[in-house]
Amino acid sequence: MKNAFQPRCRPSLSIVGSSDRFPVRRIYCVGRNYREHAREMGDDPSREPPFFFSKPADALLELAEGEGQAKRNRVFYPPRTKQLHHEVELVAALGRGGFEIAAEVALEHVFAYALGNDLTRRDLQAEAKEKRRPWDLAKGFDGSALCGPLHGVGENGHLEAGRIWLEVAGELRQEGDIGEMIWSVAEIVADLSTYVRLHCGDLIYTGTPAGVGGLEIGDSVRSGIEGLAEIEFQIVEPQAAEAPA
Ligand code: MN
Repeated sequence: MKNAFQPRCRPSLSIVGSSDRFPVRRIYCVGRNYREHAREMGDDPSREPPFFFSKPADALLELAEGEGQAKRNRVFYPPRTKQLHHEVELVAALGRGGFEIAAEVALEHVFAYALGNDLTRRDLQAEAKEKRRPWDLAKGFDGSALCGPLHGVGENGHLEAGRIWLEVAGELRQEGDIGEMIWSVAEIVADLSTYVRLHCGDLIYTGTPAGVGGLEIGDSVRSGIEGLAEIEFQIVEPQAAEAPA
């Protein structure tokens, strides 16, 4: 049997210190995993626990790490929005799957971590919330899942604390600490695995700290997680950007 057309390549990420690539299966995201961010979104974190949503795997756009990469890391401003928001996040990449994984062993399923950004068309999300419609097009558009190269847990171990931050044009916008997450990475993996069977290749965006805000064409953005990575990128007009691979 042969395909009627050549399927598109599976999205993948590079792995620091290796020539292997990490084939991405699914992208899951956690909403409201930092108290101050839950409050800025108008929610009470003591009453509403975090929750999950997802993006298509091919919404992924890999960015290069380190200083001076902003010219290379071009992120195109998406269509049908006037309110593109940044959400800097720790990304956990799974090397092993499972169903109903116990929290005590959940970190054994994490292969690597990366610095990511859950770009959001906030105006579309606000409209979807108001009209009780799905978030898919607010969250899962092309190039919405920014991610740096993966850092294997063998390199740095598991990240339990560390400053997470984002600057736009030199101005600090987002700041928090990985240790402030309402659900830890282990708890996220354990809970998510009660809804779906997880597999190697799954990415989990673990939520964003307070200070989300708008991006404009021409903005230069710097972000980082202490002890993990720093990434610089720029927002460009759609026609100036290459389509995500
Ligand atoms: Mn997010």
